[in-house]
Amino acid sequence: MIKDLVQDDALLATPCEPATTADAAVAIDLVDTLASLDEAVCLAANQIGITKAVVAYQDDKGQTHVMYNPKLLMGLSSSKLTESCLTHEEETSVTRFAKIKVAYDELDGGVLKSHRRDFTGWIAQMIQHMIDHCKGKLV
Ligand SMILES: [Zn+2]
Repeated sequence: MIKDLVQDDALLATPCEPATTADAAVAIDLVDTLASLDEAVCLAANQIGITKAVVAYQDDKGQTHVMYNPKLLMGLSSSKLTESCLTHEEETSVTRFAKIKVAYDELDGGVLKSHRRDFTGWIAQMIQHMIDHCKGKLV
């Protein structure tokens, strides 16, 4: 279901609880809402009002992926960037890694399975932005 985006800083600043298999409906809402937004390539669950650590993003082929409980394990070559956010008005200066290693869960056959993956470039930047959202950090 397509949800409204949250602009409430207090809600966006609340750290998200770990997501479980019970949050499959949240993931579907995230994917639906992301697909309804022309300019957006990623969305965290608290941006649609649910403080669970679930995020969705589109890769460079336009394919949508869902991550449960994404965690940054390692980052290489940091640099200062300016970032904008769907649910935050001003652009903010942030430090982002060009290469990251992320641990996350994926719902597969009704259970959450852990994965580890490396990301680079703008997808790495976007995932760091999403992980910040899960921590309740506003860029
Ligand atoms: Zn954002």
